[in-house]
Amino acid sequence: MSIATAGQPRHADELRLLAERAGHDLEDAPALDVLRWAAGTFGPRLCVTASMADAVVAHLAARARPGIDVVFLDTGYHFPETIGTRDAVAAVMDVNVISLTPRQSVAEQDAEYGPELHDRDPDLCCALRKVRPLAEGLAGYDAWATGLRRDESPSRADTPVVSWDERRGKVKIAPIARWTEEDVDAYVAEHGVLTNPLLQDGYTSVGCAPCTRRTLAGEDARAGRWAGLAKTECGLHG
Ligand code: SF4
Repeated sequence: MSIATAGQPRHADELRLLAERAGHDLEDAPALDVLRWAAGTFGPRLCVTASMADAVVAHLAARARPGIDVVFLDTGYHFPETIGTRDAVAAVMDVNVISLTPRQSVAEQDAEYGPELHDRDPDLCCALRKVRPLAEGLAGYDAWATGLRRDESPSRADTPVVSWDERRGKVKIAPIARWTEEDVDAYVAEHGVLTNPLLQDGYTSVGCAPCTRRTLAGEDARAGRWAGLAKTECGLHG
């Protein structure tokens, strides 16, 4: 596949074709090869999104494209450990961390919608604090890479390695989709990758503090997110 011209957006039809071909060709490729293809194809119009539970995909992406943009959704509700992990990633890794913030602060949202919207209408809260900021933040990119893995939850079991994100008109890449938790742990150990301290404190998935609890024995990795509610995803990957 051809190399992208730096900074020039591609037409959606071309991106869709690229996604379909790569989805077929790269399904079984190693994660680093997937990211090298993406870096070579999209250049600066590729970014990585990171929840800052760990920096594995950011680390892989930096090997493929040093200085790559790493996008973090700073919802205003994160644990201090997550903000600390973001700051550490920005300080020590060869990446460009970009924090996206919602249009409203938590106080402004509380004033308009009432306090603790996350308890009363988490879908709206996620739409305001995650989905819209990401949609706006991805405007300057043709492709985005995420850390989605099939073993995290039933809702992620069919995650493709490369796919066409119709809603956003982008190529979506999940380079570690086929990895297990053990694969992640092995990569972290081998490369000394930064991880969120909460992973050593009973959490297996890290999101906003009001909507995340520790995982119990026998639960899947994302069971601590919106526990007690039917909600399993924030809307970023639906
Ligand atoms: Fe709001 Fe919870 Fe969604 Fe964070 S995870 S945006 S606090 S509903």
